[in-house]
Amino acid sequence: MIVMTPGASEAEVEAVKDRLATTGVHVVVLPGELTTAIGAIGDPEGVRELGLEGMRGVDRVVPISRPYKLASSELYHHEPTVVEVAGRRVGGGKTFALIAGPCTVESREQTLEVARAVAAAGASMLRGGAFKPRTSPFAFQGLGRPALEILAEARAETGLPIVTELLDANHADAIAEHADVVQIGARNMQNYALLEVAGKLGRPVLLKRGLSSSLEELLQAADYVLKEGNEQVMLCERGIRTFETATRFTLDLGAVPWLKLHTHLPVIVDPSHAAGDRRLVEPLSRAAAAVGADGILVEVAEDPEAALCDGPQALYASSFADYARDVAAHASLLGKTLA
Ligand code: PEP
Ligand code: MN
Repeated sequence: MIVMTPGASEAEVEAVKDRLATTGVHVVVLPGELTTAIGAIGDPEGVRELGLEGMRGVDRVVPISRPYKLASSELYHHEPTVVEVAGRRVGGGKTFALIAGPCTVESREQTLEVARAVAAAGASMLRGGAFKPRTSPFAFQGLGRPALEILAEARAETGLPIVTELLDANHADAIAEHADVVQIGARNMQNYALLEVAGKLGRPVLLKRGLSSSLEELLQAADYVLKEGNEQVMLCERGIRTFETATRFTLDLGAVPWLKLHTHLPVIVDPSHAAGDRRLVEPLSRAAAAVGADGILVEVAEDPEAALCDGPQALYASSFADYARDVAAHASLLGKTLA
């Protein structure tokens, strides 16, 4: 939309129309009482390149179309996308995915114990990091490839599909071999080369929102995966940086209904990394279900005090069944059953 200044002459309006016509966009003139606006319908990039702001009589150029394309609910999709992982359906409004497990695979026993506990409680998938994005290079970085073997064993025993993070394009083959869902961590949401690699793996992708990323940036990051021909993308709100330091991050619950309006992709909430404190995880999970999330990604440990990573936010495996019942009850208020 090109908004003219109040004093713009007819000749100036005509000059703008003529320049727009060179790009082949459809032009509509909307005369108003004070100002005239000119609508340009078509390729926004072509219009941007015209440099209309510099023309006589032009006040401003206001983009109306969204910067995200493939992720948008407007342009190409009308139906919500349903991501299918080994028979579990995520998205579409009928199911609720409970993705649970340790922050990090630390050992075979630790991982199998948590996997058994969450499977018995009705979890939909098992999460667990093999390659960990740690703030300090001196912190435990994950077991790496051996962790993928442990996760594969947990899947074989429990039947739960595996969600694990792709941290580095060099690990892509190993991750594709073992993961049912490829997680892109918050710190890599804008690692565009990695997003393209993830998009080519042929596995569903769980894309976490960056610590300080806007929702428009999240959807444009999703476009990087979608443009590789992979439509199986889930978004994850995991808390953002705000002035508030009482919680580890601020869980942006408003993001969930906003994303539901603007994208066809399923939306998952991670209350664990947002809260940083297990006592907040259950109430935030209820809230996530109530605002329409398609599922939850939650950390669980047998012995959180001994965990090498994110222990304070991990639910006790021994109380996970009660938690799962509570979350399922809240999801059922919106007509959803555990995936
Ligand atoms: C995780 O899920 O373990 C993780 C590292 O999360 P985030 O990328 O959201 O910090
Ligand atoms: Mn973690």
